[in-house]
Amino acid sequence: MDALFRFKKVTCKEMKIQLKDKPLQDIHSERPTAHEALQQLNLKNLDRVVAVKINGENRDLTAEIEADCELEPVYLDSEDGLEILRHSTSHVMAMAVKALFRGVKVTIGPAIENGFYYDFDYERPFREDDLPKIEDKMKEIIKEDHPFIRKEISSREAINFFREEGEDYKVELINDLKEEKVTLYTQGNFTDLCRGPHILSTGRIKAFHLTSVAGAYWRGDENRPMLSRIYGVAFEDRKQLKKHLQRLEEAKKRDHVKLGKELGLFSTHEEIGSGLVVWHPKGCILRHIIEEFEIREHFKRGYELVKGPQILKTELWKKSGHFENYRENMYFTEVDNQSYGIKPMNCLSHMLIYKSEIRSYRDLPKRYFELGLVHRHERSGVLRGLLRVREFTQDDAHIICTPEQLNSEIKGVLEFIKDVMGVFQFDYELEISTRPEKSIGSDEDWERATQALIKAMKDHQLPYDINEGDGAFYGPKIDVKLKDALDRTWQCATVQCDFTLPERFNLVYIDKDGQKRRPAMIHRVVLGALERFIGVLIEHHGGAFPLWLSPVQTTVLTVTDRNIPYGEMILKVLKSADIRAEGDFRNEKLGLKVREAQLQKIPYMLIIGDKETEKEGLTPRLRSGRNLPFMTQGEFIDLINEECRQRR
Ligand SMILES: [Zn+2]
Ligand SMILES: [Zn+2]
Repeated sequence: MDALFRFKKVTCKEMKIQLKDKPLQDIHSERPTAHEALQQLNLKNLDRVVAVKINGENRDLTAEIEADCELEPVYLDSEDGLEILRHSTSHVMAMAVKALFRGVKVTIGPAIENGFYYDFDYERPFREDDLPKIEDKMKEIIKEDHPFIRKEISSREAINFFREEGEDYKVELINDLKEEKVTLYTQGNFTDLCRGPHILSTGRIKAFHLTSVAGAYWRGDENRPMLSRIYGVAFEDRKQLKKHLQRLEEAKKRDHVKLGKELGLFSTHEEIGSGLVVWHPKGCILRHIIEEFEIREHFKRGYELVKGPQILKTELWKKSGHFENYRENMYFTEVDNQSYGIKPMNCLSHMLIYKSEIRSYRDLPKRYFELGLVHRHERSGVLRGLLRVREFTQDDAHIICTPEQLNSEIKGVLEFIKDVMGVFQFDYELEISTRPEKSIGSDEDWERATQALIKAMKDHQLPYDINEGDGAFYGPKIDVKLKDALDRTWQCATVQCDFTLPERFNLVYIDKDGQKRRPAMIHRVVLGALERFIGVLIEHHGGAFPLWLSPVQTTVLTVTDRNIPYGEMILKVLKSADIRAEGDFRNEKLGLKVREAQLQKIPYMLIIGDKETEKEGLTPRLRSGRNLPFMTQGEFIDLINEECRQRR
């Protein structure tokens, strides 16, 4: 969409500019700023341009053009434009906070999805009720329309400047940068260390809102000071901001931590430890239903169920490369003076199962499936509810196959993922992640594995993005990002292709010609971490699960005590028909019982009054409030079974 201009420097005083698809134009100034150049070109909607790309690199509109280059305007509503706007808004927030809170120290303030944050060191943590005051001050600064002024100075000068200002964190940052020169940006009386670029002036910020406060360690390090973080959002106009805030409101209602508590699904406890989940009865049923479903689906597709131990000797983790490449994420323990690693992945036992017998090409592929409990050390700052935890269960499988089978096996996994995502009513996108810096294996193997994944995607005619350098340490992967009801994306399934671990563990099979050959290995999860998947599932449905997943499918509500014996009988009948049923026979008003059942998001309520008791039937009521016609017990049981069968 964006017009592309080419500047051709002819003399010092005159430049030729080529507008894409248009004739060359002269520009009559020496070292014009990007903004001046765009003005001279009569670019339309210049007020919507927040920065420029000079030879593809984001720069300020005030940047001088010195030599031949390509110039491209960055519009406010583009991805880059919004990032620059959001980051600039964080500078304005820092200026406001410094003006309002004496002695506060500033640290860093990057743009993030939909907004920005800034971390401060202050004598007390900031509170939600500080935010309106800070917003007001920011509005003042925006109204004053201060330009963002860029200055390049020596690191020594910058250190002196920030030291005088008492900004120790900035001094530390500059020292760590080890650059000769750094850039500072000033708006009004506030100067920050920053690479830029920024918008022209504070007046360009049209729509922002401060959303929350949180604690965050300086540089994410638990041994460094705890800082106070303020989050905000910023958009190109008020309409977009309003839309976003409404979405946030909806997300809050669906928050899985809140719903997890209200629906009796799970809890976490500081006494137990961070990132460790306690499953309550209803959450455990939900897990059990999903696990059972998964085991059945795996059996259908030729997988074998296996299970490995929780701790394995550290020597084995050294052999696999986990110790070298993944140690920071692992926990270790000692038994009889021997070091053991608590498994962060399930691969090793599966490989040892493969190795326990001589395998011929006729035995392949072997597909080992495990609902594998793993432990990974995640920084405490990133832990949240079920979405980021330290102990979780993966629906993990390893497919060991001949190199020739690799393509069809990957296709089979993609097929599997498609089926399962359909059952859970999720749309999804695919991404291929390539070799990371910290990794094992030869370039040739990596190339082979990456090509195998790309080929499977192409054969399936699936669109995908490439995510450079984000693969696992032993191989490239396909990541599946599912989309929930609020259009948010979540990483769940992955398919990883690996030639390296079979090499390290000397896995072989006997080929047709009697020769030993090396198999390939696919590591794959379909739902990923069950904890995370259930967290996403709760938010996707807002806690109102489809019938087949509902921990309680129906509740029997009596109108008066006269109806209790019949109610108890119905409850027994339903339970023996394998329906997850509860009864509420309390001497309470029916309206209250109905309301409570609705809050529990129970799909069917069975209200037992005199009519139902006399005629020995039922009048089901849906959680939406709609009543179904009077029916017999048998008809109701059929209705439930059919709906579960269709997984609606
Ligand atoms: Zn900045
Ligand atoms: Zn694995």
